Amino acid sequence: MAEYDVIIVGAGPGGYVAGIRAAQLGLKTLVVEKAHLGGICLNWGCIPTKALLKSASLLEEMRQAESYGIQVEGVRPDLPAMIRRSREVAQHMNRGIAYLFKKNKVEWVEGEGYLLPGRRVRIQMKDGQEEIAAKHIIIATGARPRHLPIFPKEHERVLTYKEALVLDQLPQSIAIIGAGAIGVEFAYFYRALGSEVTLIEAMPRIVPLEDEEVSKELERAFRRSGIRVLADARVEEAQVGNSGIALKVHTKGKEEKIEAEYVLVAVGVQPNTENLGLEAIGIQRSERGHIQVNEWYQTNVEGYYAIGDVLATPALAHVASHEGIICVEKIAGEEVRPMDYRRVPACTYCQPEIASVGLTEAAARQQGYDVRVGKFPFTASGKARAEGHPQGFVKLVFDKKYGELLGVHMIGPHVTEMVAELVVAMNLETTEAEIFQSVHPHPTLSEAIMEAAGSALGHPIHI
Ligand code: NAD
Repeated sequence: MAEYDVIIVGAGPGGYVAGIRAAQLGLKTLVVEKAHLGGICLNWGCIPTKALLKSASLLEEMRQAESYGIQVEGVRPDLPAMIRRSREVAQHMNRGIAYLFKKNKVEWVEGEGYLLPGRRVRIQMKDGQEEIAAKHIIIATGARPRHLPIFPKEHERVLTYKEALVLDQLPQSIAIIGAGAIGVEFAYFYRALGSEVTLIEAMPRIVPLEDEEVSKELERAFRRSGIRVLADARVEEAQVGNSGIALKVHTKGKEEKIEAEYVLVAVGVQPNTENLGLEAIGIQRSERGHIQVNEWYQTNVEGYYAIGDVLATPALAHVASHEGIICVEKIAGEEVRPMDYRRVPACTYCQPEIASVGLTEAAARQQGYDVRVGKFPFTASGKARAEGHPQGFVKLVFDKKYGELLGVHMIGPHVTEMVAELVVAMNLETTEAEIFQSVHPHPTLSEAIMEAAGSALGHPIHI
């Protein structure tokens, strides 16, 4: 029976990153993965959706080519070709992880891991079973889509993100339940390609975790593009047939009947913590199935750890990766700091894009801060105009007392690429004056950040 320093069960962005970092630190590391290296993110989530969303935004730009002085004819989407490209991008990245494992001397095995007491893992492989022991075992098995009991569990008309990524024909109509990240990204994608899209959200506004002004701006953009948005809405009845679905939706005091070829259920995820052997070991979970850990990702049982979507922390790839790094650095005896969850950015890749970090204006006020808000619209940005995308804004929320940056809320062109500057700024406890004094290159979209800081100080230049 081989002995490892670390065995990691699951090779998503939590597990594979933890594996690489552990090996870099000199720990003998084994990663166990039952499906694909890279997990959902790389194979069925972040990466293939970004490839599809690029096809959609390129299609929209090409339709507007004339406004850029370019004549093109016959622009039309080819969904199977888009999906082929998206799958190729995912496969390429998947091979990249196998290469990184090799380079960093991370061992990995294709099989399903089951945890046993005494720090052992039983691995069920295609051609047999093996039991392996380690000093430390990290659970990184991720999450799966939450199912809504109103729908049958498996039906070709009821989709999760996984099926929605590989539909072989463009749906004429699709109803999307849940207007979080997955819901709005697919709403944008299918609408850009020409489907009739109805977006149904239980909370009073779409992207309900974002700042209220961001939700409003996205809803305006979505309505303009022809997406039907129903917020404050509950699906009360669902009839699912072989050619489509009919929903009875209660929204703002009235009943609506919605018919569509498909329904996409995007109402969050639930942790993969069943059938892993946790009960016999005595590892504690919450009522919702999340594994309970301390700041170093140690469970209540010594030698067992958990990272990523099996925890109640935000179900985001970058969160899982950082948790993995902190977890193995602590195991290796490095000097580490716990993760600061107040400063985790969130990005949504519909058009217009959304990026945020820190407190919303409402949350900052609720926490008792006297806030100062600075805002700059992309209509006033020369670069956004030249690019042909003068929609959206940058909104910065500062604490009036010390000028500390508390929250960042952006919607518009390329904001998902711009937010990292502000994560660093926040980590350095920057003030509005320091952001305004930092020379931002001209012409760039990032000038809008400097201008928003200027607006908080009461003296923006370009508005
Ligand atoms: P989510 O939690 O982001 O959004 C789910 C939405 O569904 C919420 O707005 C919620 O209010 C709504 N909802 C819940 N029950 C409902 C009901 N019965 N009827 C109508 N609406 C209902 O979850 P998601 O969009 O499914 O994504 C899953 C996870 O993956 C999330 O943690 C998300 O952050 C992450 N993700 C991130 C990205 C990104 O960063 N770009 C992209 C996709 C997914």
